[in-house]
Amino acid sequence: MIKYDLICKNGHGFEGWFSSSSDYDVQRKRRLIDCPSCGTAKVEKAIMAPAVATRRKSATALAEVANKIRQSVSENCEDVGDNFADEARAIHYGEKPKRGIYGKASAKEAQGLVEEGVAIAPLPDALMPTPKKKLN
Ligand SMILES: [Zn+2]
Repeated sequence: MIKYDLICKNGHGFEGWFSSSSDYDVQRKRRLIDCPSCGTAKVEKAIMAPAVATRRKSATALAEVANKIRQSVSENCEDVGDNFADEARAIHYGEKPKRGIYGKASAKEAQGLVEEGVAIAPLPDALMPTPKKKLN
């Protein structure tokens, strides 16, 4: 036996049990399946869209969050590129004005910063702001 979620032309959802998918086809052609709510024989298999829709929605939400983070980093932090480790250290020790920065550091540099107690956080590539175009 297989269970299908069915929907009538008036939008009533209900379940139907069939011995096979061809049994469903036969019964539907002979108009033997009718809606328990309104009695119409115009029924269709309900498309299993919600799961897909939910996944798509969360992917969109995730992309929006990523965009917001990227924008926030881009607006509030200075891109120091490959000098990240030096700059982060200089800010930490008060040699440079305190500000938000982002840039590149090797794993070794990052580890060194963490060991010195410099507050840094890894930023996945997906969250890195796109480099600002240089005017020259
Ligand atoms: Zn109905």
